[in-house]
Parts: sequence; structure tokens; C-alpha cells
Amino acid sequence: MAISSKKSLSFLGEFGLIEHIKKNNTKAEPEHNVVVDIGDDCFVFSSLKNSKYAVTADILIEDTHFKTKWATPEQIAKKAVEVNVSDIVSMCGAKPLYLFIAIGIPKNTEISYAKRLFAAVKKNCDKYGIHLSGGDTVSSGKLTISVTIIGIKSGELITRSGAKTGDILCVSGNFGDSGAGFDILNSGKKNLTWYEKKLVKKHLEPEARFDIAKILCENNIKITSMTDSSDGLFKSVELLTADYHKGAAVYLDKVPVSDELVEFTKNDKNKIYRYALNGAEEFELVFTIAPKDKIKLQKLIPEISYIGYVNKSKGIKYFDNNNETAIKYNGYKHF
Ligand code: ADP
Ligand code: MG
Repeated sequence: MAISSKKSLSFLGEFGLIEHIKKNNTKAEPEHNVVVDIGDDCFVFSSLKNSKYAVTADILIEDTHFKTKWATPEQIAKKAVEVNVSDIVSMCGAKPLYLFIAIGIPKNTEISYAKRLFAAVKKNCDKYGIHLSGGDTVSSGKLTISVTIIGIKSGELITRSGAKTGDILCVSGNFGDSGAGFDILNSGKKNLTWYEKKLVKKHLEPEARFDIAKILCENNIKITSMTDSSDGLFKSVELLTADYHKGAAVYLDKVPVSDELVEFTKNDKNKIYRYALNGAEEFELVFTIAPKDKIKLQKLIPEISYIGYVNKSKGIKYFDNNNETAIKYNGYKHF
């Protein structure tokens, strides 16, 4: 991050920053059942009977997951919260309750930057009724943000592994925008068109599909398996269907894409499919239902698209207007 002449975190210090976070923290509501709040060695909450707790962690590292020259502190904080909320709601609408943030932050970061970052963490927690419950603060060469969220779930959990042969593959939202937005940012292009701006925004400000997961659960739609598309649609379908006994047929022409992506790719089908399948950091829900539940779901959430079904074939076959097509997975690999 840029060295600044303005006051940096080394003036405020670790404890100064923690004090600031504590003073500006989210409010603990009765549903959080707080026993010991932020400020002690541990955060303590009392548990409820007949509830399950879902826990997830994700890390964002400067120059790997974001660049400070592209993304504002508000966008970085939003992404850090949303990616974790997305994992929590993928367990069929578990409600996110507690958030822990461990942050490595360069010493020369302006105090105002750190304050903007934490104000945005609070804002995004408040949106979901999450209580910021603790964390850790250290200095580091690159801005590193590790977020852990604990969510609560009273009913049945939905895992990645419950899909049965014949189940229908369903998705929320559009695919490919985030990957295209990333490429636009990476190209360094200035003066973006309307559609490029929208694609970039989808990459920088993803939203967890809390809204969809909530409706699915509250209406007792029987979801047989579910995940979020954080590593791309190709990977999500593989996670839900590709084991020893299952496979899937996916109809590429049924995969929903935005007008912006169509404009950006100049309606080049190959490019559209590549972005839609391989583009990561999308955070849409990918799930399966039994065929008998499709009509109910269509009425309840018209936005859902039906892109294929689970079958017995080993592996996943892709079809374009009923012709089988070979598709390669080249999504992001960390190692
Ligand atoms: P310890 O020495 O036990 O690691 P710290 O001094 O790091 O404790 O933290 C003191 C309190 O402040 C703890 O409750 C911790 O969870 C909280 N805390 C530290 N850093 C953060 C942060 N970045 N965000 C929220 N809470 C934090
Ligand atoms: Mg500490």
C-alpha cells in the first residue's frame, strides 16, 4: 500500500485500533446470547438447545484476492463479509450471527483507511444482524483479512452431498459477470463503458444470496444438495454431482447470463460459456431438487434457472442446444 504523509496506524497502534473497533462495534442483540463480549481473551456466547452451529472461514490477501488500487476499503470489507455469509447461507439459510476478523495490515496504512475499512465491516454486519465478536490485529506487509462467521440453524442442514439421480440442477442469478469484471480490471482499461462498469461492480461488490436461501428454507422447498458458486459454476456442479455413482447433464444454453456479459463478449458463445462456467467469485447458489418440486419453486422464485439434471453417468456432460460439447475447466487454482 502507498506510504502516506498522513497519520498512519503506527501512531494509533494495535490497541488504539482495537479500542476504535470496540467503540464503533455492532450492537449485540438478544439473539446473540452474549456472555462475554469483545475485549477479553475469548468471546463467549451461550448455545441454544436443538440448534446447530455452522462455522466458516475465508481469507482475502492483497494482490491475490484484491488490489488496493482497484478496490476501496469499503469494497474490500464488503467482500470479506459477503464471501463468508455466502458459505453460511449455503447450508440452507443458516443465519449468520457472529463474525471474527483477523487482520494483518501494513504499519504505514493511513488511520482513516483502517477506520473506513472497519466502518464497512460494521455496516455489512448490521445488514445481516451479525455481531462483530472479536478478532486479531497485527501488522503485515500486505493487507490480509481473515474472517470467520458462526451461523445458527434450527432445521435440517443441506450439504453438498445429498443429490439423487434425476434431481434437477438449479441456480440463482447470472454467471460470468465477476470473471469478466476481473479481466476488465486486469486489462487496466480506463473510461469503461456502461456494461464494463457493471461487470466490474459485480466483481468488486459481490452479494451473498441470503435472500434466496431464506425464501427456500422458509417455504420448506426440499433442497437435496447445495453450495455457493465461489469457485465457478463448473466447480459447483462437480461438487454436487461428481462422485462414484453420479454425474450430470448441463445445458449451456440454459445457464443464465447478463446482458452486460453478452455485450462485453460481443455475443461470442464460446467466451460467454467460458466466463459463465469458469469465472469464480460469483456467490450464486447452486442446488438440486427432486423433479416433483420444480413447479412449486418456479412459482415461489421465478428468478431460479434450471440448467440440467443429475444422472448416473460418470462425470459431467455439457450440451449446447442438445449437442454434446467438450468444455475444459480452467478455473482458478491456488496451488
Ligand atoms: P489476545 O492478546 O488475547 O490475542 P488481543 O489484545 O489481540 O487479545 O485482543 C483483545 C480483544 O480485542 C479480543 O477480544 C479480540 O477478539 C479483540 N480484537 C482484536 N483485534 C480485533 C479486530 N481486528 N476486530 C475485532 N476484534 C478484535
Ligand atoms: Mg491478539
